[in-house]
Formats: sequence, C-alpha cells, structure tokens
Amino acid sequence: MSRFALALHGGAGARRSRDYSRERPHMLALAEAARDRLASGASALDVAVETVRALEDSGLYVAGRGASPNLDGDYELDASLMDGATQNAGAVAALKGFRSPIIAARRVMEATPHVMLAGEGAEAFCRGQGLETIPDPESWFTRAGAGEDNHPPGTLAHGTVGCVVLDMEGRLAAATSTAGVFGKMPGRVGDTPIPAAGTWADSHAAASGTGQGEYFIRTAACAQTSWRVAAGATLADAARAVIDEIGRLGGDGGLISVDRQGRIAMPYNSQGMKRAWVTPTGDVGVAVFDEGPTDL
Ligand code: ASP
Repeated sequence: MSRFALALHGGAGARRSRDYSRERPHMLALAEAARDRLASGASALDVAVETVRALEDSGLYVAGRGASPNLDGDYELDASLMDGATQNAGAVAALKGFRSPIIAARRVMEATPHVMLAGEGAEAFCRGQGLETIPDPESWFTRAGAGEDNHPPGTLAHGTVGCVVLDMEGRLAAATSTAGVFGKMPGRVGDTPIPAAGTWADSHAAASGTGQGEYFIRTAACAQTSWRVAAGATLADAARAVIDEIGRLGGDGGLISVDRQGRIAMPYNSQGMKRAWVTPTGDVGVAVFDEGPTDL
C-alpha cells in the first residue's frame, strides 16, 4: 500500500465523435511514470510540474505544443502551480514564445516576489531566466494551420492539462497549463493561471480545473473544492458541488482533485474529460468518458 496518489487531466473538451487512441496510452504512461517517481520519494510539486511539462510537450492536448491560436493567430499560453505545503504559487498569463509555460510559472514562484507575470513582462523574465524558446510557431505548434474544424471559433470549446498530487510526506500540489479556449480574443486570460480558480493546493486538497474558464473564475472553483473539504465535506461531494454550481451558471468543464487521505474526485459536466489516476493502493487507470470512474 503506497501512501501517495495522483490524478492528471488532458482537458474536459472531449467529444464522443473523436478518437482518443493516442491520448489514452500517453496519459496512462505518464501516470505510471509519476507513480514510480512518487514511490521513490519525489515531491508532489516536482511530480505535478514534470507531468504537466510532459503533457505540454506531447502536442496531444490544447496546451504547450498542442496550443491553438487566438483570433489574431497568436499563441498566448497560461499556466500556474501551487504548493500545498507552503501555499506558494506561481503563474504566467498570455505568455508568447516559450516552450514550457509550467516551467515558467515555477520560476515565477521561485525566483520572484510575485505570484503572476503576464504578457511582455513575463516574456522578459523568461528570457532573463534563460528558459527555452520555441522556434517558428508555424513549425512548432501541432495545431498551427489545422483549421480546427471540431472547434469553430466562438464556441468556447477548450482543452487544458493538469495534475494534482499527494506525496509520501503528505504534501499536496497542483499544476495546470493551457492555450485557453478556441476563438479567444487577444489578451483573454482564463482560470488556468489564477490560483483559486484553475489551480489550488493547501493542506486539505489540491485541484486543477478544465473547462470554460470564465465560470471557474466566477466560482473560485479549485479553492472552493478545498474549502468545502476543510468544512467537512467529502472530496467527492465537494468537487461535484463545484461542478454543479458551474453548470447552474451555464458553464461546462470538470476538475481533478485529491485530498490528504489520497481520495480522488474527477467530476465533469461536459461530454467527457481525459483523465488518468494513481490510487493509494497502487491502481493506475485512464478514462475519457463514463467508461471509467470519477471518484476513487
Ligand atoms: N479552462 C481553460 C480556459 O478557460 C480552458 C480549458 O480548460 O480547456 O482557459
């Protein structure tokens, strides 16, 4: 019996009409790799960041290399992370030109007195830190010029990646990275880089959201999940109540969460949510639709 647990997501924009035969084994392999790192004593924060970096770099999800452009054709990426043990957080918003937004967010947390840097200031900081830039966007991004026929502009269809972790020392962490919603206006920032909205970790729970970010901001979705746990709710009830509230406001999406006992909750009100998990008993699994559990 291990004492750690993890969940990861590849976005709640899953559509039944699409084939996820590449994403499923990829998410499963990342969950297995994370399990092995946690078993050797890796920290929740390191595992959350490394898992999100690998999701970004795969080009399979709408984050990092798989990003979609805004209405001007520019790639503006958002990411954040939070360390539950310290409640330290770092974030970048509307970042252009760098390979890993989640690594940039971690640098903001560790190398500045701030939580979030945006736009040109974020870019200058990343350059100063020597972070890896991307080559020409047209050759780097896997969705460049793809036409996005599944996601017509204006529909607020979306995709994001995230990871929540409990490590063997009982620390919780969360990390989330995105290109935002399809058809977004230049300068639009969603929930992903905003602690409390798209990412949260404290001593009770860690959560990472995916969906129409405006609704996650309006409900402080990820922090609310943890605060409900702190007030005595089970993680499953807490996370479901948040997604239900988002649904009542007219939004859709989902979140992944883990509490300090290693319970996992991954509710969504969209068609599906690409997700994988590692339970405290060592079970590893992957699901996109309702063929798999949301609560473990
Ligand atoms: N929540 C993200 C945003 O609104 C998008 C997503 O999760 O797919 O930017």
